[in-house]
Amino acid sequence: MPDYDLVLRNGTIYDGNGSEPIDGSIGIRDGKIAAVGELHDVDDFTGQESIDCHGMAIAPGFIDMHSHSDWVLPQPDHGKTLAPLLEQGITTLVAGNCGCTPAPLTQLNERLVPRLGRLLHDETLDYRWRDMGEFLSHLECQGLALNCAQLVGHGSLRAAVKGIDSSPADEQELAAMSDLARQALDQGAIGISTGLGYAPGIFADQRELIAVTAPLAERGGIYTSHARSYVALTTGRDDSADPSNVSALDETAAVFRAHGVKVQHSHLIFVGDTTWPTTDRALEHFESLIDEGVDIACDAFPYVGGNTTLIVFLPAWALANPRAAIQDPVKRDKLATSLQRMQHLFGMRWEDTQILWVPDSRYRSYEGQTIADIAKERGTDPTQTYLDLVAELGSETRIINWNYSGRDDEETSLRKVLLHSHTCFETDTILTGNGFDNPASYGTFPRLLGRYVRELGLLTLPEAIRRMTGYSAERMQLHDRGRIAEGLAADVVVFDPETIGDNTTRSAPNLAPSGIQSVIINGTPVVRGGKADPTLRAGAVLRP
Ligand SMILES: [Zn+2]
Repeated sequence: MPDYDLVLRNGTIYDGNGSEPIDGSIGIRDGKIAAVGELHDVDDFTGQESIDCHGMAIAPGFIDMHSHSDWVLPQPDHGKTLAPLLEQGITTLVAGNCGCTPAPLTQLNERLVPRLGRLLHDETLDYRWRDMGEFLSHLECQGLALNCAQLVGHGSLRAAVKGIDSSPADEQELAAMSDLARQALDQGAIGISTGLGYAPGIFADQRELIAVTAPLAERGGIYTSHARSYVALTTGRDDSADPSNVSALDETAAVFRAHGVKVQHSHLIFVGDTTWPTTDRALEHFESLIDEGVDIACDAFPYVGGNTTLIVFLPAWALANPRAAIQDPVKRDKLATSLQRMQHLFGMRWEDTQILWVPDSRYRSYEGQTIADIAKERGTDPTQTYLDLVAELGSETRIINWNYSGRDDEETSLRKVLLHSHTCFETDTILTGNGFDNPASYGTFPRLLGRYVRELGLLTLPEAIRRMTGYSAERMQLHDRGRIAEGLAADVVVFDPETIGDNTTRSAPNLAPSGIQSVIINGTPVVRGGKADPTLRAGAVLRP
């Protein structure tokens, strides 16, 4: 006589492998999937909880392949802040992306890393950890609202050895970074991330990337990279050479070539109108790497907007001290000229850059406004306004750019990326509970299933689910989840395929999605009737 803690009765089950669905039920016991299929005796059960899934799709919990919430998870009340993730069906976060992670901390980076991390969270953190092992133990002891698979950031590793020093690493420094990376992997990190567009990751050359990622070859684990370029820069290159966003794929592939490990090209976006036409060329190059045997995939969010930092437009030389550079008249002129050139070169407009959050509450009214809006209000030139804002609002100010892989309803590049069989899905949001939101925090997975599967027919439902679950778990080597099968962790989403969808808009980005009925993490229902219980701590740290 089977004995389950929870039964999901009579739904349509998608296994996460891309197979056609089967009708049936799922029995859950001790946090694991105990039985799948036609459970004839489920109607006889008394005592255990059951959820009626008639007319519903039952799928593995969605895996957010690119999260920055490792800066929010240490906060005791993070369940409330991260509830929008649960309510869109996410059960696992792959956190620690783009090179910036809260661990490890050393004497050299203990002040710098928290400062860099301020971009990704607003509350003061209680730094009770030094290394990755202590960080993950802290999360475990405190309890997690959802599962977390943690990467260690190269930016934090570099800062641990060199501080903010922009010079190339010498042999000794490379060895020290590599030792710290190995230690983090031994202590539970699932891989190494880089942020090659941000300081201090931007200071690293390829030699450094190969050296730091060497422990992946011994210990296993994935390399994820916020690449050097997402714009099609061709200046200074001969005409036949690939634009910078295309050759950036080679830098990601170089880590596979050196160590034979899985590599993930983070958030494959095409920034600005003049970069969009390189989409086919980039995807062909991506394809040729796969054909050659490079174990590479990418990830994407289903919006033409993406969040980042206000200082993202500044050249590397100004990043060490942006305010000082802007206040120096000669340097300011140089910055203005290069910004204007960049806007023209990449087809970007100040209308596309919307302020999400400002650290100083005196400027709160700017949240939700574009740089162009503010320039108009002030009666100043938009480029000069941008420079003024960097100096006034500070480096931690968050923005969203609405020209990534398209603009408004023009989303040709975005759709081509979403369609690719090696694309995983992600939110890539900075969800802190403050400021203006990135709609991806609320609607990513429902939008994929509603807009791109049901409405546009771009993907089949089994294939979309595979990429949200089984394929993503395989990439991150999370072997005990991502699929519906006996013995695996009971991370499950129950949704209505007829109504699932994103309700957000650019001006109302924080609206809950439609169609998510239940979300179960490690056997515990954390979302019922579409509403999350923010007090539950059903998640776990997923160690390699
Ligand atoms: Zn990134």
